[in-house]
Order: sequence, then structure tokens, then C-alpha cells
Amino acid sequence: MIPYGRQTISDEDIAAVTAVLRSDFLTQGPVVPRFEEAVAAKVGARFAVAVNSATSALHLACLALGVGHGDVVWTVPNSFVASANCALYCEADVDFVDIDPHTYNMDVQALAAKCAEAASRGQLPKVVIPVHFAGQPCDMAAIGALAKQYGFKIIEDASHAIGASYQGNAIGDCRHSDVVVFSFHPVKIITTAEGGLALCNDAKLASKLALLRSHGVTRDSQLMTGTSDGPWYYEQVDLGLNYRMTEMQAALGLSQLPHLDAWVSRRHHIASCYHSELSDLPVMRPVQRQDRHSALHLYPIQVDNRRQVFEALRAAGIGVNVHYIPIHTQPFYQARGFRPGQFPVSEAYYSRAISLPLYSAMTDTQQDQVLSALRGALQ
Ligand SMILES: *Cc1c(COP(=O)(O)O)cnc(C)c1O
Repeated sequence: MIPYGRQTISDEDIAAVTAVLRSDFLTQGPVVPRFEEAVAAKVGARFAVAVNSATSALHLACLALGVGHGDVVWTVPNSFVASANCALYCEADVDFVDIDPHTYNMDVQALAAKCAEAASRGQLPKVVIPVHFAGQPCDMAAIGALAKQYGFKIIEDASHAIGASYQGNAIGDCRHSDVVVFSFHPVKIITTAEGGLALCNDAKLASKLALLRSHGVTRDSQLMTGTSDGPWYYEQVDLGLNYRMTEMQAALGLSQLPHLDAWVSRRHHIASCYHSELSDLPVMRPVQRQDRHSALHLYPIQVDNRRQVFEALRAAGIGVNVHYIPIHTQPFYQARGFRPGQFPVSEAYYSRAISLPLYSAMTDTQQDQVLSALRGALQ
């Protein structure tokens, strides 16, 4: 089976992880901050907080921005459930903004209209979470302008988009947002097995994220409310979690990071082959906007008879997948009052979508197999 995505692991990666296993620290020692600094430097953010998943990073970002009971968080239906669940963890409500039919990212016109309507009811969101779907950045300048106008915060769910850029600036620099979140799950651009990271440019927000990552417990006298009982002393000053990254994960990430640009280039090469080879087939290809460089996490096409094409590809050993079942149609979200039909662009896209295999280690031969299986499936 040719998977839709998979990790690339070298002997150097294995050596980096085993070196940590022989060292004194297995969890959050010296390698985690080295990884944080390397990612922050790579994308041009001031602060990075590494955690055990992007889901955890989204949760911490919501908490650190003060999301709680009575607040509303908006995201898109066309994402993994974690983009919405993070608000519910904080006891806030979730609502959705539909996607643009061309980029499959948050529709900025729909966001503007929903903001105007929510403002008239006094129910503006506290946080909006745009998702850089398939690695292509959202229109962050426009979303950032709406955040200023209406006073909401922005968390970029950049789980697909490390290595991407928007108007010449790396995704992760937080130029148009408060926090940016990356995922290092094995199907993403670089991996730490499980792992995620939150970036920001605000020192206070960074220290809050770091505090909440580790139980809300601090040994920093600056953050304490009382005076120290002695050198053993620590204080719990907030209700945090244990979302720490291990040293093994950080070592793997640190070893993967130097390959980022080459791997994204390889993804572009594969995607451009798909683009030209699919031009004469009854397939809708993804659109790339001129002012942004995608990390190309996914190559989603749209076809008629999706189910039939999907099953034929799977039968031919092609591990295609579908991204995403609209979040609001999940039973859990329907039980919270959402209904199919509410976000028609996401639903229409979902009904026709298939993600073709795309990963940096995919060979030209494998791509030829995918293409010939697809030609067969479309007949
Ligand atoms: C993968 C993914 C997540 C969750 O990432 P984990 O690191 O697996 O927790 C969140 N949002 C999107 C858009 C994703 O693709």
C-alpha cells in the first residue's frame, strides 16, 4: 500500500534519538529548549513552547488567551476535529465559518459577514482559528485586519504548514496572529512521532503557555505569589496539565528540521507532476494562490463518484484518504445542535474529495503507480 502520507526517518534521526536514551534526561531536559529555539529561529518567532501534540498546543493556546465558559471560538468545518475540540476543553462554545470553494481555507467574506452579524448581537468570538488546509496559508492579512476591527484573537492551526510562507514571510512568525501551532505527527511535514509546538511573540503569553504545559507549577520566583520556603520550593499558581514533550521527541524533531525546505521542495515537485498529469482527467485539482507558498501537506482532488474512485484506488493498493469530514456533521457536534446543510461549501467539497499520496520520500515510480491506478479508477 502506498500511503497518503508518511514520515522519512534517517540513520541520523535514529542516532539522535538513541543518544538521548543514553543521556541523563528522558523528558524535558536540554534538548527540548534547543528544539524550541531552532523552530523559532527557522520561522522567525520570538518564543516557542514544545508540547506532546498539536492538540495540546491548541488547548494551551486557548487557555493562555483566556478562553473559558461563556466565550465563543470560531474555526472551519474542513479540519481535523482537534481544531474545534480545543475550545470545548476550555468550556467555551464553538461555531464555524465556511470555506472558500477554491482554496478550501476559511472564506474571508464569510468571516467578515459573520463578524458583522455577531457584533450586532454582541456575540463576537474571543478567538478565531484559521486552518492552513493542505499546507496553503489562509489569507492572514485579511483575517488579521478583521481581528483588529472586531477585537478577537487569532490562533493559526498550522498543523499542515511548517515550511509554508505567506507574502514572503514564514508561517509561524505570528505576524498576523497571537499564536501559531505546528503538528509533528508522522504524516505531517516533519515529525517527532507525537508532538506539537506553539509559537508567539509575546513574552507573557509564552511564559503562560510554558506554565500551563507543566501543571501550572513554577520554580521561577518572579511567577510566585509567596516567598520561597527553600531551594526545594515550587508553587502551583494556575491549573495546568502535563503536556510536556520528551527529549527523544525533541531530538527527532531537531534532527528532522534541517531537511524541512528540501522536503517541502520535493512535495512541490510531486504536486507539480500531479498537476500536469491530471490536466486531461475529469478531476478538479487544488488551486495555489500566487502570494503564498504551500507546505503541501496534502494533494486533495475532487471527483464525481468519489466513493467508487476511492474504493478502486484502495483496491489497487493506493492508500488514499479523505480530508475532512466536516466537523459540524460529526455525531458529537450534531448532539450539540449542529446540522448537515449549515456549511454547504465544506460539505460539497467533502462529498467529492480524495487526498492522493504525497510525502517527501515518495518515489517517481510510486507516483506513476498512483497515476495509473487513478486513470483506471476514473474509467
Ligand atoms: C494533525 C492535526 C491536528 C492535531 O495534531 P496532533 O499533533 O495529532 O495533535 C490539528 N489540526 C489539524 C488541522 C491537523 O491536521
